[in-house]
Amino acid sequence: MDYKDLANLIFPDAKDISYYEEKYVKRNLPEGAVVTRYAPSPTGFLHIGSLFQVLISSMMAKKTGGINYLRIEDTDQKREIEGAITSVINSLKDFGIEFDEGQIDEINGKGDYGPYKQSQRKEIYEAYAKYLLSQGKAYPCFATPEELNELREKQEAAKLRTGYYGVWAKYRNLSVEEAVEKIKNGESYVIRLKSPGNEEKKIRHKDVIKGNVEFPENDQDIVIIKGDGLPTYHFAHAVDDHLMQTTLVVRGEEWLSSIPTHLQLFNILGFKAPKYAHIPTIMKMDGESKRKLSKRKDPEAAVDYYTEEGIPKESVLEYLLNIANSNFEIWRKQNPDKKLSEFDFQINKIGVSGALFDMVKMLDVSKNVISRMSAEEVYDKVNEWAKQFDEELSVMLQNKEYALKVFGIERGNTKPRKDISKWSEVKESISYMFNDKFDKNAQFEYAKISDKNEIEKIVKLYIEKYFDINDDKQTWFDKIKDLAEELGYAREVKLFKSEPEKWPGHVGDISTVIRVTLTGRQNTPDLYEIIHVLGKDTVIERLS
Ligand code: GLU
Repeated sequence: MDYKDLANLIFPDAKDISYYEEKYVKRNLPEGAVVTRYAPSPTGFLHIGSLFQVLISSMMAKKTGGINYLRIEDTDQKREIEGAITSVINSLKDFGIEFDEGQIDEINGKGDYGPYKQSQRKEIYEAYAKYLLSQGKAYPCFATPEELNELREKQEAAKLRTGYYGVWAKYRNLSVEEAVEKIKNGESYVIRLKSPGNEEKKIRHKDVIKGNVEFPENDQDIVIIKGDGLPTYHFAHAVDDHLMQTTLVVRGEEWLSSIPTHLQLFNILGFKAPKYAHIPTIMKMDGESKRKLSKRKDPEAAVDYYTEEGIPKESVLEYLLNIANSNFEIWRKQNPDKKLSEFDFQINKIGVSGALFDMVKMLDVSKNVISRMSAEEVYDKVNEWAKQFDEELSVMLQNKEYALKVFGIERGNTKPRKDISKWSEVKESISYMFNDKFDKNAQFEYAKISDKNEIEKIVKLYIEKYFDINDDKQTWFDKIKDLAEELGYAREVKLFKSEPEKWPGHVGDISTVIRVTLTGRQNTPDLYEIIHVLGKDTVIERLS
């Protein structure tokens, strides 16, 4: 009996690997095109770090005219969650990320390199495991959990490296006859790689992001097929990324230390290894120290959070690009109107260590992103958000023509308003523009001029003598100055500053009185524009 007999006994029906090697023909792509993928386990939760990762791979595929595909890594069936695949696909779609190829729902995929769901690829892994078994490069291991425990305890007691390797790998050198007998007796087993590695030797690897790294060779006889017949991540990674012809693996840095195992697997299987880009984990400051953004503690770790808060997808993507390439910010300043896809993204410029996530900065980016949107765009997005998350706001926006005017205030000019960072702030920020939301009897907080009689005097004179809805902006402002002067205030701020003791205040204090009376707030966008959108009747009513 030889290895072939053992392989046939274990996987009697598995095909010869030549079948798959021929079935998946070489991709026909332009020179330099990158084939990359997003390969989540379907847990039903999309972490902001995952979005970061997909954004990077999709930028790389787009930039090179390549392919970004979706593969579902569901070999850990204990973690299966109903509807999780569709939910990931939809969450990513919300952020404008769609795949060129791969899984499209819970069951189906599109493309010539599928199935794209690992649980549907069992026979493929079996073929490659059989191929290794038949050459004696893999073997069935009958170690029970108790045996493995005992092994670990012994190693720990002797202060040795733990694991299943070298002399500790009890079933590594079992004869074919002994293995066959155990299988025939119904003993359970896994398939392990017979690692040719030597811990004392080093391997060198050049990571696209991390640069040169050095590790000891892998000498662990890792499991490639588990007791349930499904492959481990390591084995599936090698087989799938080979057959799907991935050229660039973009994945979390927690996998960097598996590089020796993965390169070894590619080598033993006779595959060409892809390039690897291990991206930094997204961190946040917690007091003085950095920590991972945690699914449990930080709501902003979940991608759905941004959708619920109404932080536009454009803002989130733009912020993530900011984290990825520090020159993005300058590019954006110089090219305010360009599409994100026009940015020359450089994967190797991603920082090596933990990317720091800062919500304040994210909202700041978002203010800028929103400031560049047209009133129509803002309206559409707010409206869509409100339909799902805020009925009251949705009702307020029913008069589209009026809402467009409100959103049009200080927009579309060279210095657009920057007071909105997310749609959940919109209702509060525009409520005074709606008569039924504006409580004219509320106690307003005035600024420097807060005496009731003085306020009345100012407002009264303004309506009677200076207010004319038909004035252009310059005339309107000149009239506010005239009003200030008539009431004994400085007509220019400059004048006031040169001799502050001479006046009770200046033109700005006067306009603040009008602003607060009209809107209930000390800070608003341009008052002239507000007056025009509110219209003559509302202005007079509120001021009276
Ligand atoms: N399923 C793995 C994970 O979710 C994929 C890692 C990879 O991209 O290879 O971490």
